[in-house]
Amino acid sequence: MIPAANPIIGKEERRAVDRVLRSGGLAQGPEVAAFEKEFSHHVDGRHSVALNSGTSALHMAFIAAGIKAGDEVIVPSFSFAATANSVALTGATPVFVDIEENHFNLDPSKIEAAITKRTRAIMPVHLYGHPANMVAVNEIAEKHGLLVFEDAAQAHGAKINGIPVGAWGLAASFSFYPTKNMTSGEGGMVTTPSDELARMVKVLRNQGMEIRYQNEVVGFNTRMTDIHAAIGREQLKKLPKWTEQRQSNAAFLNANLEGVVTPSTAPGMEHVFHQYTIKVVDTDRDAFAAELTKRGVGNGVYYPTPIHRLPSFQLELDLPATERIAQQVLSLPVHPALKKRDLETIVKVVNSVAKAGS
Ligand SMILES: *Cc1c(COP(=O)(O)O)cnc(C)c1O
Repeated sequence: MIPAANPIIGKEERRAVDRVLRSGGLAQGPEVAAFEKEFSHHVDGRHSVALNSGTSALHMAFIAAGIKAGDEVIVPSFSFAATANSVALTGATPVFVDIEENHFNLDPSKIEAAITKRTRAIMPVHLYGHPANMVAVNEIAEKHGLLVFEDAAQAHGAKINGIPVGAWGLAASFSFYPTKNMTSGEGGMVTTPSDELARMVKVLRNQGMEIRYQNEVVGFNTRMTDIHAAIGREQLKKLPKWTEQRQSNAAFLNANLEGVVTPSTAPGMEHVFHQYTIKVVDTDRDAFAAELTKRGVGNGVYYPTPIHRLPSFQLELDLPATERIAQQVLSLPVHPALKKRDLETIVKVVNSVAKAGS
């Protein structure tokens, strides 16, 4: 079986963890500080603040920016639930806007119709590693006086006109969950150009205190441990090479797959292929996926149910592109652990299933 995802842990990560275990300091400490400093180089020198998950990163960034009950935040429904959960957990309301069907990201032409007196922010998701149209989103936000956040959980190293994701909004959130383009075990990072927002995220992750036992706000324990940071630091060094491998794997699949709609990259965008996602349009997607699994090609559907229709939200909304795409997408293995023969197997199996189904 060719796995859909395959986190790569080497001797460097093992050595780094051992170093921390021997140091005696296990919780947030010097490794976290070093990880933050090193991550900043990947987001145009912005502040980086590490958290215990990508969800915490989103959540803390919203609270630090003052998002609260009564506010509305525009997000796509075609994403992982954490995108909207993090808004709802502040007491604010996620307002779901439709996506565009080529790159599966928030459709800028649909945003303005969703803006109300309560709208405070827009948060696109750089889904599958393809950047959202931040130029258009920032223009709309500026016109209406809104804050901009980025859900960059799937897009480490992706760029728009040469500028990295995570360097476009007031704040961006990354995830280091094991299946993401790099991992720390569990973990997340907020990036921001704002000194004050960075300080507040640090305060919020540590029970609301900057000075010990002088808690200034009601906070959380959402700190990253030095053990996780040590893993993350080693993975960050390997990220550029892994990104190139993902991109060359995707190029091979794009050149050789037949009978399915292969992913495209919009002009000016650097896609980092967290997922390599095809559209199955001529035949039933779920039957197609089951057949791939039967023939040894791991795959996944991200995401079969749009967030607004999950039991946790249960909203009746008219989001036609979101609904259609949720029926069509299928992600194939693209991770850097794939060998040439794995890629050839994927092509052979997908092409034969597509041919049989059409
Ligand atoms: C993974 C992910 C998150 C949440 O990250 P965790 O580290 O799992 O909490 C948020 N948004 C998107 C789009 C994701 O893919």
